[in-house]
Amino acid sequence: MVFDEHNGPIYCKEVPVPLPKPHEILIRLHFTGVCHSDLHAWKGDWPMATKLPLIGGHEGVGEVVAMGDQVTSFEIGDYAGIRWLNSVCLRCEYCLRGEETCCVAQKASGYTVDGTFQQFIAADALQTVKVPAGIELAKAAPVLCAGLTAYKALKKAHLQPGNWCVVIGCGGGLGSFAVQYANAMGVRVIGIDSSDKRDMVTKSLKAEVFIDFASCKDIVGEINTITDGGAHAVLNFSVSEKAMNAGLKYVRTLGTFVIVGMPPNAKLTTDIFDQIGKQFNITASSVGSRQDTVEALDFFQRGAIDSQISIFKLSELPEVFRLMQQNKILGRVVVDNSQI
Ligand code: NAD
Ligand code: ZN
Repeated sequence: MVFDEHNGPIYCKEVPVPLPKPHEILIRLHFTGVCHSDLHAWKGDWPMATKLPLIGGHEGVGEVVAMGDQVTSFEIGDYAGIRWLNSVCLRCEYCLRGEETCCVAQKASGYTVDGTFQQFIAADALQTVKVPAGIELAKAAPVLCAGLTAYKALKKAHLQPGNWCVVIGCGGGLGSFAVQYANAMGVRVIGIDSSDKRDMVTKSLKAEVFIDFASCKDIVGEINTITDGGAHAVLNFSVSEKAMNAGLKYVRTLGTFVIVGMPPNAKLTTDIFDQIGKQFNITASSVGSRQDTVEALDFFQRGAIDSQISIFKLSELPEVFRLMQQNKILGRVVVDNSQI
């Protein structure tokens, strides 16, 4: 499924199956999660340019069907996953420090190189993650970006068991994972999203408190009251500049605000006296490392978290984007790559 220009038609096109280079594996893709970043890529609303024409997608899992002669970490028939980070230089200061997500020359799957909204993909074996056999592939797919990113953002929030964490956008792809990882870490969760997500967030994901952003008249006051002085961490996964900025007003003294959602052209404005008085941190998180990916998948494999998915055909991608723009998706949509 490809588009030639931003906001243009997304259509099915036959392309040759790639031949893996010496360090690459060729994967026959089974399932791919649809991330809001794929929607940003199609709209072209971020400051970083995408490849065009583009095959999007960066949460793909499938089976290794061929490989280059330098690959030692996979066998034919293994399951493998494609992540947002498609390749890094391994030479810049940040790669040398093990902070590959900051690589100055990074390439991103489904953004600067073609991604997983297709049936076969060749990718660098180093950045490809091994997906353990026996796990449900459709549910494993969204762990590779949504799960990983939520998990890493929580790690960056330095929470302790029993602390309060606010998850803004808790009914979406990333947010639905964040609620569960936080629960698994013993953290108390207040989720914010629209009322149609309430049942899933409280009953399936088991957030302790749910706030409907549309009907709640005083979100800041309510959270400050429930938490008796603010949340130890606030994680924003919404694509709302307004929600992000409100979030700064209910971070607890010495707490942490983590920027994850990426609304185009958005600014976060902090009140200097408020922030110095409370000495809270504002930090940002970008996907996660290869080791974070292994850990995020491990929570899933052990049943400590589950993926909230609905499955569509790959050819239904335009419909998925339409629903996503209207915030009508519960958790994550996963497309079946064999269904054109
Ligand atoms: P999503 O569309 O699945 O979820 C967003 C959720 O936010 C929806 O449930 C929506 O109802 C909710 N929402 C909208 N307005 C809100 C408001 N005012 N208050 C509370 N909730 C509100 O999107 P997603 O796939 O989870 O991605 C979210 C954002 O994170 C996107 O901008 C995406 O590009 C970005 N992202 C960042 C990283 C990173 O590494 N930093 C990685 C992946 C995605
Ligand atoms: Zn993503």
